[in-house]
Amino acid sequence: MIDTLIVGAGISGLSLAHALQKDARQVLVTERQGRVGGNITTNRVAGFLWEEGPTSFSPSPALLRLAVEVGLKDELVLADRRLPRYVYWKGQLLPVPMNPPAAVTSQLLSWRGKLRALTGALGFVSPPSGSELAQQGGKETVAQFFRRHLGTEVAERLVAPFVSGVYAGDVHQLSADAAFRRITQLADVGGGLVAGAILQRRQKPKTVEAQDANIPQTKPGELGSFREGLGALPEAIASRLDGAVKLNWTLTQLRPTEQQTYIAEFSTPEGDRQIEARSVVLTTPGDVTAKLLQPLLPTVSQALQAIPYPPVACVVLAYPDSAVGRPLQGFGNLIPRHQGIRTLGTIWSSTLFEGRTPPGWQILTNFIGGATDPKIAELDQEQIVQEVHNDLRQILLAQDVQPKVLAVHLWKRAIPQYTLGHQERLEAINRGLEQMPGLYLCSNFIDGVSLGDCVTRAQKRAAEVSKYLQASV
Ligand SMILES: Cc1cc2nc3c(=O)[nH]c(=O)nc-3n(C[C@H](O)[C@H](O)[C@H](O)COP(=O)(O)OP(=O)(O)OC[C@H]3O[C@@H](n4cnc5c(N)ncnc54)[C@H](O)[C@@H]3O)c2cc1C
Repeated sequence: MIDTLIVGAGISGLSLAHALQKDARQVLVTERQGRVGGNITTNRVAGFLWEEGPTSFSPSPALLRLAVEVGLKDELVLADRRLPRYVYWKGQLLPVPMNPPAAVTSQLLSWRGKLRALTGALGFVSPPSGSELAQQGGKETVAQFFRRHLGTEVAERLVAPFVSGVYAGDVHQLSADAAFRRITQLADVGGGLVAGAILQRRQKPKTVEAQDANIPQTKPGELGSFREGLGALPEAIASRLDGAVKLNWTLTQLRPTEQQTYIAEFSTPEGDRQIEARSVVLTTPGDVTAKLLQPLLPTVSQALQAIPYPPVACVVLAYPDSAVGRPLQGFGNLIPRHQGIRTLGTIWSSTLFEGRTPPGWQILTNFIGGATDPKIAELDQEQIVQEVHNDLRQILLAQDVQPKVLAVHLWKRAIPQYTLGHQERLEAINRGLEQMPGLYLCSNFIDGVSLGDCVTRAQKRAAEVSKYLQASV
């Protein structure tokens, strides 16, 4: 009998286990694969180091604290926040304006587009209306919300590529409230987004958080990783869990007992195994969780099955410096749809973090597919590389040199999409879970997909689990 069984050794499961173990709880983490990290997939061969899943993180205090606690303080690397981000628009790479003066001079928006964005931001916004909205139960898509507030140009040229970069999503399907809650809340607070931001800041209680000298100080806009790649984080957490991580253990069944515990059945290399736990946290993706919960909580299972996860391919290509037409100084480039380019975006990985290639090489990490192009999953690896290489020739390459292909990783179900109806699905899930005290979900389909969101959510869930364990002694 253990306190808490955690299923899945991605960043969610491991940071949850770390938090519970700090609280002196007895945990076991079980993982289907033969390695920890889940989506985090760092690889290295012959002097190249690359990522096939997440490529960096926004350094949130919770994530930084976790990294420090597991001994990675000196391994942290931060990309220079002054490096520009580019959008490919009408055959040119144009820098994304990162502040108001840059927005005024930006070539990415026309004068009309800038004026429209400014008047909208200042609160001259029509209320949401129309038959389409009524059909959507009064909820706006991301495209509708940003078009209404900031105009079509901002929605198409800035928001849509950003959504491709974060969710590999489609602005016409994602729910503004679910995917951009912090921004839609600004609109709810005041007249426009600017007034909302000012009012919200004023209303926020002024608490001065004591600065922890042990936590590295970072600046907004910085992106983080570790010298040996993102994989260093799950590995460091797992190594501190004192043998409480079981690899190649696939959860096949879960059932409650009359003693308010759960019996979990696993398929393992040593045969089937059973574990009894007072509480269980599933950090598995939506479809896996849906299947496991089907016999116990059919309504929860149904809501989970409705969360779409489109396919995305991560294509990591190395080119000699001579092939790249321009000195790569930037985070990378995103590509709005209808520009004649199939790739969603390219991260200029070797510019972002030093020391990831042998001298004379550049790594370009490309993402292709997503909600607007699910057919990517029908191509074979060679065809996917060719699509990306052809796009790079148009955007970045000066010479048609064939790349060194470091990886083509097709994520068949990549990132959960917070589409219209997502909030209602989450409410149905939460209502259903009330019937099973001690059973929790902690996955990226809940309230944020970034690594930082996963760590913050895991810490909150750990506190809830601990409280439950204390109350149910
Ligand atoms: C291609 C891609 C690029 C991304 N880029 C970024 C980025 O740059 N920055 C960022 O912040 N975020 C990024 N994200 C999002 C982020 O990586 C994820 O949200 C996060 O890693 C999810 O972690 P998790 O632990 O919740 O889930 P996972 O990492 O999916 O972990 C779940 C674990 O459960 C295991 N499992 C499944 N079924 C079972 C079972 N039956 N029994 C036992 N174990 C099971 C799986 O093997 C897996 O290890 C990206 C995601 C993808 C896919």
